[in-house]
Amino acid sequence: MATTLRIAVLPGDGIGPEIVAEAIRVLRAIEEKFSSFKMDFRFHDASVARYSRTGVAMPDETFNDCKAADAILLGAMGIPEVRLPDGTEVQPEIVLRLRFALDLYAGVRPVKYYEGVTSRLMDPRIDYVVMRENTEGLIGARGGGNIFHDQVATDTMVITRYGTTKIVRASAKLAQARARKFGRPGKVTCVDKSNILRSYAFFRKVYDDVMADFPDLEKDYAYTDAMTVNQILWPERYDVIVTENAFGDILSDLGPATVGGMGMAPSGDIGDRHAVFQPSHGSAPTIAGKGIANPIATILSAAMMLDWLGERHPGLKLNEAAELIDNAVTAFIRKKQGLTIDIGGNGSTKTTGDGILREIEGTKI
Ligand code: NAD
Repeated sequence: MATTLRIAVLPGDGIGPEIVAEAIRVLRAIEEKFSSFKMDFRFHDASVARYSRTGVAMPDETFNDCKAADAILLGAMGIPEVRLPDGTEVQPEIVLRLRFALDLYAGVRPVKYYEGVTSRLMDPRIDYVVMRENTEGLIGARGGGNIFHDQVATDTMVITRYGTTKIVRASAKLAQARARKFGRPGKVTCVDKSNILRSYAFFRKVYDDVMADFPDLEKDYAYTDAMTVNQILWPERYDVIVTENAFGDILSDLGPATVGGMGMAPSGDIGDRHAVFQPSHGSAPTIAGKGIANPIATILSAAMMLDWLGERHPGLKLNEAAELIDNAVTAFIRKKQGLTIDIGGNGSTKTTGDGILREIEGTKI
């Protein structure tokens, strides 16, 4: 008998509902292929649009349903002109609330080139993962900063041994898994500014302490400013990159810029018990409603969700299901038919969903 997995779905604002609709079509097609699991999708309106209407971005019932779900699939949140009285945007009320309240300490952001994508760099060797510490660092100061007399503003960065240990350990385990998968040694690159700030020197020290438990992995270091150059000039050198929250935010947008842009950037915000899967991009308000947003980042995020669920529910063939989605995306892009404009095609959100569905339906399992 099939096991039912409960998935909380938050489509959000802007292009969010359009790209999530395609990911759900793909997940339903996958469900048809596997008799071992079913998915019970629970849709919720948590969004900045909802905040504009009601004053509440994410009601507690929605948060509680997310907490009770097996996994959470999110589209994108944000309407830049809708702001809180302190001048910040409303979208962190949803995205960061989930991240902090559910302790989703690992921002897992793969950067991979799929053959067929037209991009600034078209290098099939690009395949690495940015591991962004998600719950502390500079962004951990959220809501704690001060503005004095409209003259001076402060936010404080926090790096803890506890938080750094968890993200470095998760990065090392990922590097080991990738080493097994690709049949080559694994490497974890620590990215920081330990040349200047003590907090980053401490981050690096904890990295060294944790990596002592992983003698099979290569250690590697880069300063963040140099890393922005390396990601463009020598992206093939990287395997797993571990870094502080704000730096991870930046490097995990820079990476996708080399493989076709934000429409190709999936992500998972992962903790020990809960996880949110979403594209790395935002609500792209200027293209919302036009049917041209690239849904691949969201579809690949849904694949990451199945992969993560597979670790927790062995025997349900969820990892095979995740691989089937990735293979279908690979095959669809390689044919170069129906791709969206951002990656060199003249297709739409729907032609992308249709093309990936065709690949899934045409695969014998
Ligand atoms: P954005 O990621 O929405 O857009 C950046 C650029 O990438 C734009 O040119 C956009 O058109 C393009 N783009 C993004 N996704 C695309 C896709 N799937 N297909 C094709 N092109 C795509 O970033 P932004 O413009 O800085 O922010 C817009 C809003 O999104 C803001 O309100 C911001 O706060 C919010 N935001 C939300 C999240 C989230 O929900 N996790 C993340 C980042 C930004």
